[in-house]
Amino acid sequence: MPHDFEFEKGMLFGEWLHEQMREAMHFEDEAWAIDRVRRVEDRLQAGREAGHRMVVEIPWLDEVTAFTAPGHYIYFGRRLYESCSTDEMVAFVIAHEMAHHDLSHVKLFAGWALKITRLPGASLFALAFHALEHHLYGPQKECDADRHALDLCLAARYDAHKCLELFDILEQYALDMEDYDMVYGPDVDSDDELDENASWKTKAQIWAWQRRRGYLPIRDRRQMLRKHLTKSQENKPGTKQ
Ligand SMILES: [Zn+2]
Repeated sequence: MPHDFEFEKGMLFGEWLHEQMREAMHFEDEAWAIDRVRRVEDRLQAGREAGHRMVVEIPWLDEVTAFTAPGHYIYFGRRLYESCSTDEMVAFVIAHEMAHHDLSHVKLFAGWALKITRLPGASLFALAFHALEHHLYGPQKECDADRHALDLCLAARYDAHKCLELFDILEQYALDMEDYDMVYGPDVDSDDELDENASWKTKAQIWAWQRRRGYLPIRDRRQMLRKHLTKSQENKPGTKQ
């Protein structure tokens, strides 16, 4: 299994987390939801060996979020899932979580998972797992995961512009919650804070902001990905998206 590890005799961390999640909440099992998610996960993973394939689950989380962990499960929160009206949006969310595996980010959990699983109230930890993920990864890894996700979607021949419409959904949700910081970030005049060429000061600012908030501003993520797309198209003359 991708980056899973044994933490007790015969018990893999990813499987333990999955069991805790199953016990603590309902997983969506309606055909409309499952059919779509299987269709997208198959298309994204067409070239992967069976042992490296991820399985997407749709738990009824309170938050509009998705996350992954060591093991082969991706958790796509039901509220985020129902907001995604196209396969392309669903594909980008899943591909972002796959990227955390492909880029070995999930390995970061291995060092202290043992301690956590023995805490009283470990099932609560399972619920809070996604919040922790953001703090472990940091903005650099999140940006890398976003770029790799877009590459995975392109490789599966999804329309990249339609994939990026996911950010319209995230932005609308944040605006509905009146969370303007989440949309615009620390500098409302700039969509370029995640630019590789941004000044040191800008990078420091975004880093501090992300540390405080636990996630990146949506506009900056979208802008960074648009640039990545332009760059990948320039590198492949003749390819059209
Ligand atoms: Zn992520």
